[in-house]
Amino acid sequence: MNTCPRCKNPTEQTDNYCRHCGKSLRPGQGFLFTHAGIVLMALILGPFALPCVWMSRVIGTTAKWLYTLLLAAMGVYLVLMLHQSYLMIQEAAHMMMGGGL
Ligand SMILES: [Zn+2]
Repeated sequence: MNTCPRCKNPTEQTDNYCRHCGKSLRPGQGFLFTHAGIVLMALILGPFALPCVWMSRVIGTTAKWLYTLLLAAMGVYLVLMLHQSYLMIQEAAHMMMGGGL
């Protein structure tokens, strides 16, 4: 007999989720941990999808490193983009201030 790690109620061997509190009993095996789920998360969350990659028990280690590299590259790209737009905003503000007066 298994018990739920969260609410300690008995669970069936075949249950994917606890019938009492809804906790996933098979961490790392939901949709979010499949390739499709990770790609989807990466598109929405960017580098923040990384924990899903490493918690996954569905994808292999090589795939994990590939996703990690991709997400890290995405992170660097995002920072560069933010920095670039920050500079552009500053420049635009400077021009407006200078030109207006
Ligand atoms: Zn439970």
